[in-house]
Amino acid sequence: MEKPQQITIDGPASSGKSTVAALLATELGYLFFDTGVMYRAVTYAYLKSGLSLTDESGISALAERMRIDIRPPTVDDKRQNDILLDGEDITWQIRTREVDDHVSPISVIAGVRKAMTRQQREIGLRGKVVMVGRDIGTVVLPEAPLKIYLDASAEVRAKRRYDELMARGSKADYEQILAGIKDRDQIDSNRKIAPLKPADDAIIINSDALTVREVVDRIKERFA
Ligand code: C5P
Repeated sequence: MEKPQQITIDGPASSGKSTVAALLATELGYLFFDTGVMYRAVTYAYLKSGLSLTDESGISALAERMRIDIRPPTVDDKRQNDILLDGEDITWQIRTREVDDHVSPISVIAGVRKAMTRQQREIGLRGKVVMVGRDIGTVVLPEAPLKIYLDASAEVRAKRRYDELMARGSKADYEQILAGIKDRDQIDSNRKIAPLKPADDAIIINSDALTVREVVDRIKERFA
């Protein structure tokens, strides 16, 4: 069997998608592409712009205009990639609580999704890619031959995010993180355009009781 050139991994916030996808991509020699980074970059630019959330055409124009680059890491601080916005390194600026709190409402905007989806599809069609997000199997690359939907309970996801922040030396409050994750799930799953959901032909994996290694191995079993 021809090996799949595109693997899509969708799932809710902090389900472990990026960690799993990065390891899988390294082991396969594929590109790892986390599309959440792009929505986060738009959100960061929006927060800096002073635009109002109701100004959808202004925010869409911002998304069309901005140049997001995702490159191999040049700094050894646990980053998976350098994320550049019009040449500025915003790798950690897109991981703040403020961006977490605004990214889902920004990702609802049709013009933002159109601009991001077009760029993502172009990269995906080049092949040899593990692409991560909410709508990759359903909208961005529906023809991908291997689609994964990675799920986990909100409590396990909040605990993982809490541990991640603590390990980075940031302040963290478990209850606040849990509430934020539930809010994002709610907005991401119920929006009209490209809601978070498994593609009809996705393989659903619940990672509550699985290690990263175990999830990667399960995906690789399907890949062989
Ligand atoms: O994956 P991550 O948590 O970094 O994604 C941040 C947010 O970006 C999600 O909560 C969602 O609102 C949005 N997103 C999206 N479609 C994608 C990837 C992310 O709407 N393909």
